[in-house]
Amino acid sequence: MQKIEIADGIEMPLLGFGTYQMMGVECAQAVNEAICAGYRLIDTAEAYGNEEAVGEGIAKSGISRNDLFLVTKVNFRSYDHVRSTVESSLDKLGTNYLDMVLLHWPFGDVYGAWRELEKLHAEGVVRAIGVSNFDPDRLIDLIEFNRITPAVNQIETNLFCQRVDERKWMQKLGVAPMAYAPLGQGNRPEMFVMPQVTALAETHGMTPAQILLRFLTQQDIATIPKSTHVAHMNENLDSIDFDLDDAEMKSLLALDRVQPNIGRASDPELVQFAMTW
Ligand code: NAD
Repeated sequence: MQKIEIADGIEMPLLGFGTYQMMGVECAQAVNEAICAGYRLIDTAEAYGNEEAVGEGIAKSGISRNDLFLVTKVNFRSYDHVRSTVESSLDKLGTNYLDMVLLHWPFGDVYGAWRELEKLHAEGVVRAIGVSNFDPDRLIDLIEFNRITPAVNQIETNLFCQRVDERKWMQKLGVAPMAYAPLGQGNRPEMFVMPQVTALAETHGMTPAQILLRFLTQQDIATIPKSTHVAHMNENLDSIDFDLDDAEMKSLLALDRVQPNIGRASDPELVQFAMTW
């Protein structure tokens, strides 16, 4: 698996496995199957309520802990007790360290939470720390007033929401992009049937999903598709093994609609909605 360097001496697989909306036995089984298929990065979150099931899947796979890159996120409701939240994640996941912990949204006591993550990082409990759903303005502010620059910003990124401007800022700031909802979360089926996508699928003998994923990983964007089906897990993993040429990349770059489906943390409607979570 190709890796990217996200912080000093920390390498992260370019393609990983998402677990949002997977619960219980189904989640444990999917995580086990994903690891057996070859995934080495697993992404979960306190808010998904599935860390225990993810831990069960990892244990069942029998993989050595050091071969995995485990990512979880602290929910903004827990920003005033980050340490106990991370300790609970460690417990549920059945590990004594995490490869990366992210602040899930830029709400609540972000600064207090970040400083506690900095301490956990210094203690070696967490190898890398990062954020999620942070727009460039929030990133700049966080970086200016703290010691550690977030290694990663995990944001919705896909064919219809390419984040070109955001990624320019992230590159300037030294924050690696990580794409969530790379396949549109199953809510944007139009992505799979765009003529430019189906044409490239035919040319390369790949599926539309593989084109959509390779479009991201070829730009060095870490990408974490989710699936509970082994055939899709394998298909998504195999997307790493071919290249799109410049003209092909250009044809896909032209399809950006610049609008996230899940929303921006700077949108008051979304913030108000998030306060009900
Ligand atoms: P996704 O874009 O990965 O889409 C998942 C959907 O695509 C599912 O319905 C699945 O069945 C389908 N699918 C998967 N492989 C396919 C294939 N080869 N062909 C056809 N359909 C396929 O959406 P997601 O799960 O929301 O995002 C990926 C991961 O990102 C999540 O699981 C989670 O770990 C993370 N995430 C993070 C945040 C955040 O706020 N940080 C938000 C959402 C998701």
